[in-house]
Amino acid sequence: MGEWRRRAAVVTQVGGVPVGGHHPVVVQSMTNTDTADVEATVAQVAALAAAGSELVRVTVNTEEAAQAVPRIVEQLEARGAPVPVIGDFHYNGHILLSRYPECARSLAKYRINPGNVGSKRRDENFRTIVELAIANDKPVRIGVNWGSLDQDLLTQLMDENAARPEPADAGAVLMEAIVESALRSAALAEDTGLPHDRIILSAKVSSVPELVAIYRKLASLCDYPLHLGLTEAGMGTKGVVVTTAGLAILLAEGIGDTIRVSLTPRPGADRADEVRVAQQVLQSLGIRSFEPQVSACPGCGRTTSTYFQQLAEDIQSYVCAQMPVWRERYPGAEDLKVAVMGCVVNGPGESKHAHIGISLPGTFEEPKAPVYVDGAHYTTLRGGHITEEFKAILEEYVASRYGAGVPARGDFR
Ligand code: SF4
Repeated sequence: MGEWRRRAAVVTQVGGVPVGGHHPVVVQSMTNTDTADVEATVAQVAALAAAGSELVRVTVNTEEAAQAVPRIVEQLEARGAPVPVIGDFHYNGHILLSRYPECARSLAKYRINPGNVGSKRRDENFRTIVELAIANDKPVRIGVNWGSLDQDLLTQLMDENAARPEPADAGAVLMEAIVESALRSAALAEDTGLPHDRIILSAKVSSVPELVAIYRKLASLCDYPLHLGLTEAGMGTKGVVVTTAGLAILLAEGIGDTIRVSLTPRPGADRADEVRVAQQVLQSLGIRSFEPQVSACPGCGRTTSTYFQQLAEDIQSYVCAQMPVWRERYPGAEDLKVAVMGCVVNGPGESKHAHIGISLPGTFEEPKAPVYVDGAHYTTLRGGHITEEFKAILEEYVASRYGAGVPARGDFR
């Protein structure tokens, strides 16, 4: 499995986190607290970072939010959770960054939406933010969003298109305008003096086919690191699936250097779910590993009890609970593959493909559960303590395989 992928040629440092080049695809997220509420924002940034977010963006929309930023960064450092904090600016970024220099200094990166920097003095405001980025030695993300696309540019491209002998359809011109907005803004930033390797681009839409087309185009036209994400993905299963569908195509093609999953959380839901989905997308594609993967069959009429579902859930929960310890003690444990299967049909075969697997008895099968380790039968469990016994074998296997002085495969037995 490849931990490293060839992506953008350029590497942009964001608060000490390299984005682009051969570096791992970076997982990032965004808070939904009021940034002016320092306590709530610090708590959420710390929770997102604890879940694995390597960069966290906060909105900086008011004077109070700009004043809060340095305190948020200080408190995160005091807590021992110094994740780079990115400022998200719309409409008044040039004012806030100028008026609050501590905010400008504290942030690890500024996100500028070229469609939201003012209409009359757009370029001037854009340049002001870029000049502040240069003065503070910060990178910027030029983040185009089709919900707030530069309308002047779109009108110009629509007019040019209408004057052609065979005009393209309006959708194609919209896609062109999104890509153009990102590239022209990057050129303006470089003209203002921002180094080439201090720019990250994104161009987000909420439709998968358009997202794929736009990022393929961007990747073919520039070597800036690309921030990948589907905007306004929505809630629940739909949000997860539509995001995965878009990101997976592009990531599999080597496009995308940092990703964010924009899920709408259900009221009271954990904001860090967006981090877990991003990690799972990368791990499912074999790009990065974050935690052991538990494979389980869906169950069918061959297994009428819910015992194996319960066991799969117990093992998944156990692995999640142990991971903070395993990460420290057993480097590489995040690559572990575990199988929990419902009956003899696919149970032994799937278990042999995993590092460690258990095949429970289906209906009418003898009440025994063979355990497989590294592709070979290891033991057979029976009776009322199968879950505990399997966890003990799992723990022993992880210690043996990933602990200091790792023994060769097979020594476990
Ligand atoms: S492994 Fe057995 S129980 Fe699981 S889905 Fe296949 S046939 Fe059904």
